[in-house]
Amino acid sequence: MGIVVDNISKQFGSFKAVDRVSLEIKSGSLVALLGPSGSGKSTLLRLIAGLEMPDSGRILLTGKDATYQSVQERNIGFVFQHYALFKHLTVRQNIAFGLEIRKAPAKKIKGRVEQLLELVQLTGLGDRYPSQLSGGQRQRVALARSLAVEPDVLLLDEPFGALDAKVRKDLRAWLRRLHDEVHVTTVFVTHDQEEAMEVSDEVVVMNKGCVEQVGTPAEIYDNPATAFVMSFIGPVNVLPNTAKIFQGSGFEAAHPQVFLRPQDVIVEKYAEGATAPARVSRLIHLGWEIQLELTLDDGQVVTANLTRDRFNELQLEPQQRVFVRPKDAKSFPLYYSI
Ligand code: ATP
Repeated sequence: MGIVVDNISKQFGSFKAVDRVSLEIKSGSLVALLGPSGSGKSTLLRLIAGLEMPDSGRILLTGKDATYQSVQERNIGFVFQHYALFKHLTVRQNIAFGLEIRKAPAKKIKGRVEQLLELVQLTGLGDRYPSQLSGGQRQRVALARSLAVEPDVLLLDEPFGALDAKVRKDLRAWLRRLHDEVHVTTVFVTHDQEEAMEVSDEVVVMNKGCVEQVGTPAEIYDNPATAFVMSFIGPVNVLPNTAKIFQGSGFEAAHPQVFLRPQDVIVEKYAEGATAPARVSRLIHLGWEIQLELTLDDGQVVTANLTRDRFNELQLEPQQRVFVRPKDAKSFPLYYSI
């Protein structure tokens, strides 16, 4: 079984860091807590870990009420952004640490450490000290150390946050593969939507201490529940429903604000049906995509992303006249303010 967060709240002074959050995390899944800085992700993770006590609500771990259990009583592995490995211990000794504390038999420890070294792809580096490892390798040791005691739940707080972009990207893919092998219920905190989408089975989008939406990466991208989720998961044009681009498209009748993703802006060279004239005011090559800044005749600026193939087909140049229409757009009632 996994984790149940039942109506949990936590205040610091008068500030509601986590506000009546309910959540079910399935056994064996990999779930991301995603949200901007200060949205309560770390506090929620620390509540699950037992590092913070809630003001109200319950936490169930593998079916048992763990709300008032200490960290030690919960069988949890924890990795932080800056996980201080024991500097005076080798990689092998670091990984063995939890098992030594639990007084596991020496033979079992030895076998388990070798198995974990292989799992985190550090075979051959077992005798090194943390100072002789790269940042990415250190975080892999930290993960191996937390997995050594076979936790029911693994909690990761921005585990790759301190690493450079390339290493971070490699480790994401690695974490996904690792999880596919060990299947331990894992919750990890990130403010990076790409990281959350790439790694997890389900994403919990948090904002101001509340959960805005829980869903698979595809669900939160294709069917965002709120304007906040729509804007947070990838770039989006926020336009009034009166903008010329919506004329004749059916979107103008909805709520006053309409959300249109750059890749959902259809750009044509010639007027066809209900399209709005615009001018290419800026053209940015992003490599695999081309970003256009389009100025409509009503002065509205709309960003459009074209694939390289489509761009080559259109052969666009700056200042060129084009015709645009929305492929897909969403509007939300105004009370979902962002
Ligand atoms: P970040 O990505 O910046 O870590 P977060 O979403 O993880 O943000 P939290 O760390 O959970 O957010 O913090 C939520 C809010 O609660 C923040 O405004 C923070 O300042 C506040 N907060 C967290 N811990 C404490 C504390 N021990 N005492 C007072 N305020 C706190």
